[in-house]
Amino acid sequence: MRIDHKLQQIQNQIYQACTRVNRSISDVHIVAVTKSVSIERTEEALQAGLNHLGENRPEGLLTKQAVITTAARWHYIGSLQTRKVKQVINSISVLHSLDRLSLADEIQKRADHTIDCFVQVNVSREEAKHGIELKDVQSFIESLNEHDRIRVIGLMTMAPHTANDEVIRSLFKSLKDMQLKIASNNYPYAPCTELSMGMSNDFEIAIEEGATYVRIGTALVGDESEDVI
Ligand SMILES: *Cc1c(COP(=O)(O)O)cnc(C)c1O
Repeated sequence: MRIDHKLQQIQNQIYQACTRVNRSISDVHIVAVTKSVSIERTEEALQAGLNHLGENRPEGLLTKQAVITTAARWHYIGSLQTRKVKQVINSISVLHSLDRLSLADEIQKRADHTIDCFVQVNVSREEAKHGIELKDVQSFIESLNEHDRIRVIGLMTMAPHTANDEVIRSLFKSLKDMQLKIASNNYPYAPCTELSMGMSNDFEIAIEEGATYVRIGTALVGDESEDVI
């Protein structure tokens, strides 16, 4: 299906979710997760007006950037191996997966400017998920105060696929509470005003609970299967 049609549908859902909780749609940014689709499909997303793109592999990111000339903001959304930092860190606008001090140290060493980062939080504490546990978020962020190449713009989480809506909602609420707590410290290196949460299956709940960036792949650009039709 054409991306511009899917986008209209999703924008409508975003509008409805915002309306339910008295939020402005201009506070919600869509990151089109293009990690599983071709260069052509990624270009179609840009043509539809989506200029925040999400990738989760260095190879995918760099291959696309090498040929796509349209201006875009590239978001790195997957777990990032320390040894791959130097390949990607100066090619992205936002990192959504800052989850350990060794990664922060490597970014500090390799970045040629300040990188906007989300600290990834493992709110559910289920599975072998990446992310800092809620109870450790404050101290982790404080440990970044001398990393002048990192600006913590917000917190990010992924809800478990298996969870029901009320469980997902309570996880998102917990992340929002933590975001407000960090923001209230007024740390210059961690304004923490943003919340990256919500994917194809749960973005409406995420918006109702305060998401400012939703990361949508399957429902918007599709997955590998879109490339054959
Ligand atoms: C793949 C991925 C998404 C998008 O997931 P969909 O369910 O396809 O919308 C969002 N965030 C992260 C971190 C991902 O890896």
